[in-house]
Amino acid sequence: MHEEPSAPARTTAPHPPSCPAPPPAGHSATTTERGSFCLARCTCGWAGPARRSRDRARTDAAEHLAAG
Ligand SMILES: [Zn+2]
Repeated sequence: MHEEPSAPARTTAPHPPSCPAPPPAGHSATTTERGSFCLARCTCGWAGPARRSRDRARTDAAEHLAAG
C-alpha cells in the first residue's frame, strides 16, 4: 500500500457521502440501440430522443456534451 500523489482535482464542492456512484468525469455520452431505434445516453442520466438513425443519436449526444 502506498499513497498516491494528489490528483489534479477540479475545484468543486466536496462530494456528499450519501450520493450514489457519481459519473466518472462529468458527461460521457454513448449511443444505445433499442429495437430499430437508436438513442443517446449519458452517464449523467440524460437520454436523448429515440432516433431512427444512429447518426442522429450521435448528433444528440454531441450536442448534449457541447451544452453540458
Ligand atoms: Zn450528460
